[in-house]
Amino acid sequence: MKFNYCGNSGVQLPALSLGLWHNFGSVDDFSVATQMVVKAFDAGICHFDLANNYGPEPGSAETNFGRILKNELASHRDEMFISSKAGHDMWPGVYGDGSSRKNLIASCNQSLKRTGLEYFDVFYSHRYDGVTPIEETMQALIDIVRQGKALYVGISKYPPYLQQQCYDILKEAKVPCLLSQYRCSMMDLKAKLENFQLAKDNGSGVICFSPLAQGVLTGKYLNGIPENSRAAKSTGFLQLSQVNNERVEASRQLNEMAEQRGQSLAQMALAWILSDERVTSLIIGTSSVAQLEDNLKALDNLSFSQEELDRINEICTKPNIQFE
Ligand code: NDP
Repeated sequence: MKFNYCGNSGVQLPALSLGLWHNFGSVDDFSVATQMVVKAFDAGICHFDLANNYGPEPGSAETNFGRILKNELASHRDEMFISSKAGHDMWPGVYGDGSSRKNLIASCNQSLKRTGLEYFDVFYSHRYDGVTPIEETMQALIDIVRQGKALYVGISKYPPYLQQQCYDILKEAKVPCLLSQYRCSMMDLKAKLENFQLAKDNGSGVICFSPLAQGVLTGKYLNGIPENSRAAKSTGFLQLSQVNNERVEASRQLNEMAEQRGQSLAQMALAWILSDERVTSLIIGTSSVAQLEDNLKALDNLSFSQEELDRINEICTKPNIQFE
């Protein structure tokens, strides 16, 4: 595994991290979930990314992760870096959603209980909710650290006009923002253009989610929609309409490039993000051990010629390719 420092901190993360948004809930096969976590850890993926609402059922990914830890990895806690988040809809009533102090602190307590952990390595504000003052949300994160419930804090999906405010408040309290989490892939360039440099300038590490565009950048949709794929499921997170003709055609062209590089498309898509030195880690999702093994090989070739970078840019900036 390759390790990178998180911004200006002394903490390193593996270049690939595992996210438990999909495939680790109570509706999923627990033995496959266990195999993926154990395989990841054995391969050096020691960072696991959770959130209160991951499932489905919401909360069940944390419960299952706690069970896997207890059953398989109990003696390895100090070799692991585990995150959770709060800010999206989780429980009924006005306190179960948003970025208020009430939601963050109650949610962190619930997440610790579900996972059976004594503390999270990093706890995030999952999103800016459009209403709560940034000061309130950041103070909640600061207090979570002061209460010993997390070692570090992070922000997720904060727009650039609020990002600096978050960094300033956290820095002043001497609880600097360890990680800034943004969606990024070859089909999602917005954060790379708008958020990464600000994070780097403030000493915060950048960690990217959905680096495979939820599977679109793996070649799995080149010949239609496979049964059991995320687009075929009714979760609504990757809609059939998002697997449009333009993205499929772009994947085909990128797949040809990847073949010439001796990589799978998934491997090339991951390597491409990691070639940006501002990025600390990518949070990948997987639905099988085979996918995890495929993705791990991305680390074998992380360099790109200028010609390749230009070609990727040309393919991915055509109309209807970018997700935003
Ligand atoms: P990816 O873009 O990596 O998509 C993962 C999906 O792609 C898999 O579930 C699988 O889908 C498919 N896939 C992965 N590898 C392969 C392969 N080698 N070959 C074929 N198909 C493959 O990431 P996610 O969208 O899952 O997000 C990753 C993590 O990021 C989440 O688990 C979460 O921790 C974090 N996240 C954070 C958010 C935030 O708001 N901060 C929002 C979203 C995610 P299939 O089911 O089709 O097999």
